[in-house]
Amino acid sequence: MQHYICTGGCGGESSNLIVCQAEGCKKEGEPLTPCDCGDSVHHHHSEEKEKENE
Ligand SMILES: [Zn+2]
Ligand SMILES: [Zn+2]
Repeated sequence: MQHYICTGGCGGESSNLIVCQAEGCKKEGEPLTPCDCGDSVHHHHSEEKEKENE
């Protein structure tokens, strides 16, 4: 099921599209990134990797 994760380093995640509320996070105040992994791996967790096959 789709969920949303923060890629700013705070590790935040939510089932709703919210903005990060973690103080000091690089993404504080920015919307979380959609993710639909089924095992909490969060493949989009790193912003620097754009490769799908690694
Ligand atoms: Zn965050
Ligand atoms: Zn995920």
